[in-house]
Amino acid sequence: MLPVSLRAFMRENEPLAERSTFKIGGAARFYAAPPGRNFVNDAILCRNYAREKDVPFFVLGGASNLCISDGGIRGVVLDSASLSLISVKESGGTTAAVNAQAGALNDAVAIFAQEHGLKGLEFLRGLPGSAGGAVFMNARCFEKSISDVLISVEYINEKDEICVIRRDCAGWGYKKSPFQGREAIILSASFAAEKAVNEKERLEIKALCDAYYAARKEKGHFRHPSAGSVFKNNRAFGKSSGAIVEELNMRGKRAGGALIAPWHGNFIINAGGASCRDVMTLVDAVKDEALKRLGFALEEEIIFAGEER
Ligand SMILES: Cc1cc2nc3c(=O)[nH]c(=O)nc-3n(C[C@H](O)[C@H](O)[C@H](O)COP(=O)(O)OP(=O)(O)OC[C@H]3O[C@@H](n4cnc5c(N)ncnc54)[C@H](O)[C@@H]3O)c2cc1C
Repeated sequence: MLPVSLRAFMRENEPLAERSTFKIGGAARFYAAPPGRNFVNDAILCRNYAREKDVPFFVLGGASNLCISDGGIRGVVLDSASLSLISVKESGGTTAAVNAQAGALNDAVAIFAQEHGLKGLEFLRGLPGSAGGAVFMNARCFEKSISDVLISVEYINEKDEICVIRRDCAGWGYKKSPFQGREAIILSASFAAEKAVNEKERLEIKALCDAYYAARKEKGHFRHPSAGSVFKNNRAFGKSSGAIVEELNMRGKRAGGALIAPWHGNFIINAGGASCRDVMTLVDAVKDEALKRLGFALEEEIIFAGEER
């Protein structure tokens, strides 16, 4: 029986697959979706409950970078979706700060900036997932990383204190943030933007947003369930991970219901009924081949949640 303090927003054995963009995975042993108004207190209660029960604690954003274990997550899963507010703080000058609560969708942040005539966040248009997840992953697309536009992040640290870090702290890198390997709960992030000065610039913002969205569509991002790029791009290899998979002739390779996208070497899609085990089989096959035949040690970008590799 759940403690009274958690019953209003926590459920047991909640299926997760439908929440994830991959449509894969089992249930959360404890799933919490606290409302936005009391999120901080409720989130702390959830994390303490996980500590008390000695089970893992996992913060869920848009579940767009995850391959959730077939056995589910045998711990406490805290859903940040209710933290969905986006606002803007304008300076007197040419700049503005867009503040996104952690559960706000990246796409919504881009559209918000566009509608407010703010430049610099167009690259988030069409990026699946939430601002919190994008900060955690230091998401990168169209040659821009989240850390390039970040002003600050507000989060709950491991001692239940609300802290703020600025972009210039240590720990940011390619697909790397200071939150990885920690048990912090990201609450919101502020992003730097520049005000459009005239109608022409407003139209340019919209044109760029539309172009980025169209590019994702064209690359087949939304055609099948997936978790985006499977492997990080290592510049030292001199080619993208997608090109490496192509060179290995592994596009179209299948394991159960999972398929390496025939049109994109760095995407694994759920072609119907895929399991996490199927995805792992493909990931391991690509890693083995890349190492054996090319000497490249590919590093996973997708996170296998809930299962020890
Ligand atoms: C079709 C497709 C295209 C994609 N394209 C790109 C791309 O171009 N570039 C790119 O970088 N990624 C891409 N991705 C991956 C993904 O969209 C991003 O990494 C996204 O920012 C992840 O956010 P999320 O909210 O879905 O995080 P989740 O998948 O829910 O979680 C990812 C990690 O972040 C942690 N996390 C999430 N929210 C919080 C929080 N509030 N506090 C603490 N930790 C948190 C989770 O615990 C987990 O460890 C793509 C995915 C898909 C499906």
